[in-house]
Amino acid sequence: MSKKTDVLIIGGGISGISVSRELSKHNLDVTLVEKEADVGWGQTKASYANRHPGARWTPGTLAQQMIAEANQVMDQLIEDLDIEFRRSGELVLAFNKEELESLKTMKKQAEHINVEGLEIIGPDEIKRMEPNVNSAAIAALYMPTAGVFNPFEQVLALYENARENGVQMILGTEVTGIIPENGKFIVETNRDEIRAGYIVNAAGLFAERIAKMAGADSFKIRYDTKSTCIILDPLLGNIVQHIVSGVNDLKVFVRYKLVTPTFDDKILLYTTFPEPAKGIEDRAVEKRMIDLTIESAKVLVPDVDFEKNIVASFSGLTARNDRGDFIIEASEKLPTFVNVALPPPGITCSPAIGKRVVNILKDNGLRLREKMNFNPYRKSIKSLRGSSPMQVRDLIGKDPCYGNVVCRCETVTEGEIAEAVKRGATTLDGVKFRTRAGMGRCQANFCGSKVTDILAREQNQSFENITKKGRHSNYINQKGS
Ligand SMILES: Cc1cc2nc3c(=O)[nH]c(=O)nc-3n(C[C@H](O)[C@H](O)[C@H](O)COP(=O)(O)OP(=O)(O)OC[C@H]3O[C@@H](n4cnc5c(N)ncnc54)[C@H](O)[C@@H]3O)c2cc1C
Repeated sequence: MSKKTDVLIIGGGISGISVSRELSKHNLDVTLVEKEADVGWGQTKASYANRHPGARWTPGTLAQQMIAEANQVMDQLIEDLDIEFRRSGELVLAFNKEELESLKTMKKQAEHINVEGLEIIGPDEIKRMEPNVNSAAIAALYMPTAGVFNPFEQVLALYENARENGVQMILGTEVTGIIPENGKFIVETNRDEIRAGYIVNAAGLFAERIAKMAGADSFKIRYDTKSTCIILDPLLGNIVQHIVSGVNDLKVFVRYKLVTPTFDDKILLYTTFPEPAKGIEDRAVEKRMIDLTIESAKVLVPDVDFEKNIVASFSGLTARNDRGDFIIEASEKLPTFVNVALPPPGITCSPAIGKRVVNILKDNGLRLREKMNFNPYRKSIKSLRGSSPMQVRDLIGKDPCYGNVVCRCETVTEGEIAEAVKRGATTLDGVKFRTRAGMGRCQANFCGSKVTDILAREQNQSFENITKKGRHSNYINQKGS
């Protein structure tokens, strides 16, 4: 069977989803295909979720321009879509004269895009703002506009809103071939064929492969920068209130390091180094990477027993490309085919990416007619966390399932899990990213089977069919062992 659409977006990461939401403001048939069972499971999920002010990017790059444009509209988007965001501010530490010069360069770069409130501060002020940071720091660049997102909610909120406004989301569907035909495309997938007038290639690490399928490739994706994230036990407390980072240094192996609070009041350690990945799907976290990450974190915040407080760790590959900047452009050979290939920071830039792609499509002939009934709003899932006693009573009064706490570490109720399923979660990870069930200290050891039970019940499925993250990841294997 073949389906027809005006615009086909390939890839349900933050880029593809942002484009879909922007297109949903117009009277068009828009379809998005994602190979995984849910959206945001590529690089987007691996992010440490900082909203960057732009000081680390060079003036004149498309990346810095996108950061500046996105930061103009992001606060409104956060409000409209009810996304968790915490404006923590960032301190970039310098430990010697050379690093102090780097801070000055960063400050200039940020001033180029009018970032507000920048200040280079000395050791006393650093100590006052962050008592636990290394007292050997001689200065810090303070950037008050930096902050931390809930990266999962960022993509899921856009997804829900785009779907509500008519975008067809086809999950678990992989594009396997593209045949250009008179300016249009026949797209082969592992399921049905799709005929599309325009294609937006937002396949992240796989963007080069997708572009090649259509003969619209003019760049190479490199995946030789592997990053490691470590989440610490929340019982450790708020050892830092701000994002605390080091300057980028291409001369040393660990190029970028940070200790950051997260949207859910945990602490995350992050490092990035030029680690040759063993393949495009390499997500392995080796002991050496953990050791390097902790060693780097200790340069910023010493005297904390990080080793004993690790709750989870994960790694991610970043899709750098051979041009060293964002690529958001129509193919020269096939102007109805738009490539979106982003090195970091794609999450920070997401609203600007959507708008830029829509303008490119328009410049290449896509007729845009504004949708009069576009709904810009979406509400997050209600939760006991952060609710007043009155609100809790009200929630449980309306739905007694909100009185049954399933995930004790993160206080997630049966009501929230059922709501997550209504909004599209089909897997344990889908529930986790929507509600935080399983993100706490025990990492789902206690609540995993209960969540599986609710997922099975709400989807009319058998327990055995429920997976952690789609294909081949059943919570229990079919033989029950
Ligand atoms: C470890 C790490 C930390 C980061 N931290 C930050 C941060 O703090 N702040 C920030 O702003 N940015 C950060 N970034 C960068 C940011 O995460 C990325 O720039 C952004 O997520 C890229 O989004 P994307 O949609 O382009 O790609 P992706 O999120 O990778 O999405 C691409 C999607 O395409 C799908 N796909 C691929 N091939 C096919 C196919 N054949 N058919 C159908 N679907 C397909 C994939 O499954 C995937 O879901 C970080 C990145 C990493 C890796």
